[in-house]
Amino acid sequence: MRLARIFSAIKRFVLCAILIALFAAQAQQAQQNHGIAVADLDPSVKPGDDFFRYCDGAWLKRTEIPPDRSSLSVFSMLDDRSNKRTAALIEEVSKSNPPAGSGARKIADLHASFMDESGIETKGLSPLKPHLDAIAAIKDKHDLARALGETLRADEDPLNNTNYHTSNLFGLWVAPDFSGSEHYTAYLLQGGIVLPDREYYLSDNPHMRELRTQYQAHVATVLKLAGFSDPETRAKRIFDLEHAIAEKHWSLADDQDVHKANNPWKQSDFASKAPGLEWNEYFRAAGLGRQENFIVWQPSAFTGESALVASEPLETWKDWLSYHLIEDYADILPKAFADERFTFFDKALTGVSEQRPRSERAVLVVDVLLGDEVGKLYAQRYFPPEAKQRAQKMVSNIVEAFQKRIDALAWMKPATKKEAHAKLSALYVGVGYPETWRDYSGLEIKPDDIFGNAWRSSLFEYHRQVSRLGKPVDTHEWWMTPQTVNAVNLPLQNALNFPAAILEPPFFDAKAPDASNYGAIGAIIGHEISHTFDSEGSAFDAHGGLRNWWTAADLDHFNAATTQLAAQYDKYCPFPDLCLNGKQTLPENIADLGGVAASFDGYRAALHNQPAPEVDGFSGDQQFFIAFGQAFRSKSREAALRRRVMTDEHSPGEYRTTTVRNLDGWYEAFHVQPGEKLYLAPDDRVRIW
Ligand SMILES: [Zn+2]
Repeated sequence: MRLARIFSAIKRFVLCAILIALFAAQAQQAQQNHGIAVADLDPSVKPGDDFFRYCDGAWLKRTEIPPDRSSLSVFSMLDDRSNKRTAALIEEVSKSNPPAGSGARKIADLHASFMDESGIETKGLSPLKPHLDAIAAIKDKHDLARALGETLRADEDPLNNTNYHTSNLFGLWVAPDFSGSEHYTAYLLQGGIVLPDREYYLSDNPHMRELRTQYQAHVATVLKLAGFSDPETRAKRIFDLEHAIAEKHWSLADDQDVHKANNPWKQSDFASKAPGLEWNEYFRAAGLGRQENFIVWQPSAFTGESALVASEPLETWKDWLSYHLIEDYADILPKAFADERFTFFDKALTGVSEQRPRSERAVLVVDVLLGDEVGKLYAQRYFPPEAKQRAQKMVSNIVEAFQKRIDALAWMKPATKKEAHAKLSALYVGVGYPETWRDYSGLEIKPDDIFGNAWRSSLFEYHRQVSRLGKPVDTHEWWMTPQTVNAVNLPLQNALNFPAAILEPPFFDAKAPDASNYGAIGAIIGHEISHTFDSEGSAFDAHGGLRNWWTAADLDHFNAATTQLAAQYDKYCPFPDLCLNGKQTLPENIADLGGVAASFDGYRAALHNQPAPEVDGFSGDQQFFIAFGQAFRSKSREAALRRRVMTDEHSPGEYRTTTVRNLDGWYEAFHVQPGEKLYLAPDDRVRIW
């Protein structure tokens, strides 16, 4: 589970399957002070009435979301910082005229290929022509099975980067096996829709109905631009097919329930369990003909989607394939296609009104397709050994605080505690950058062929993933690049990654007091550690095996407490017609609560019983909680916030902040009294860890 999902303007170079969530973001002024930002507070708001607006009110009032963004947050600000640095590194590399065949050459050539606007316009759709011709030549369902198999990519990731979406019929995830984690296995997940989630097709909400109308018009426009006859008729058929697929899909809340996901199927099972698709041909074309074992995340979706392959007309599937191919690559096609994609996916879906400059999009492309190659340069330049040491020290303090909280839990049985301690002791915490870097030497990058570069990258990554099947697991493997502003818990490896780019002010500042560092990055470190034990983490043992190491009584207590937390979040409604889904966001809400609680302990321990220095009249405890409230500050456009509430497993920043109402220390710090809006009686405060 990663810390945050930040929707991007350029999204889905998915083809390459590495990351989805890139960014949003605009530099606000650089953080000048060290510690909490007093100027961002709104002292006219009582902390006990609305803690988010108390911490961030002045910032919310003066901050305008720029036209090319859908939201702003600390994450997006740090993304900007990381992007600027990355852009400068790429420019430096390009000017240095690096030798042929080197990683630096690939960076320079990939960048040049995206910036070659006139070349892209001249070529038009011709780079896709062979692929579109192959689709047009499909003459029966056997050919269709092959074509569908050829589209399979390693582009989903249900546990680490929590990405459940691919527009291909299905998606592959190569990861340690559920049962012991010693070898990599093949997970298959549902796919086949372009809109972000099944709810976009099925919800009765008028806003969603309107988006569906706009989406169908968008599909028709894309087909028309590509020269297809009868674009409206085809668009209707494509939409209807995606709608039928969405009906078979699992909901996000079900996707996240790892106990429902462990469904081992042999390759020979598919024909009987999911009849319709010619599976032999599908797997052969996907290069998985000899892969015997799979784990099928959403079995009924496979049954349903496969039946649609049989029942729906061949011509509809061919239109669906053609449209998906063009849509997946629209960002790197001629301007008419990229603009049309922007108009629907950014404007309509997230409320962004202006496209980002091409130079910024170029950085994203390089970052996604050659992430580790750029990351190597980034880590060398921006993450000195001193920063690494200090961050590691904080991690170990908070791990220790967690160990103590576990000892202090009255409800947890000794046998369970022993397992929990074992899990914490075995936890691998990666700080800054990976121990080994990905090798791109087999990937061909040409300076004048952006489509070919993206296509080859996508296949290169897919083949890399497939080649790992059956091989021993590297528990120190990283799932994020150093320049990524995020953090991640890797349950099957019992590991965490904290990339260099999140270990930056205002989250982490070597010159800031402990109070604000623990309130901000400390709570984030605690968040990730808490995932080790949450409703998902409790399902995995110290070796990453899917094994319940809790007693039934422990689990009962945990479930009762977490149900209470889900109910608390169900009551938060950003819009009159749209409330949070406490179940969908539960693991992340537990992590926020557990994280800030453990970090508060870590902070208190770091004081060694000395009073914390006051800053601008704020006590140490007040600074801690304000830093927490400021770490999750955010401002979103309505469309983006709606999308987030419906599809994100994280609650919006406002509600992440509000979890402080469950901590006794917060009541003491701000003298919160009964009658104030966030006040909870001591018995109603959710206490999980
Ligand atoms: Zn998380």
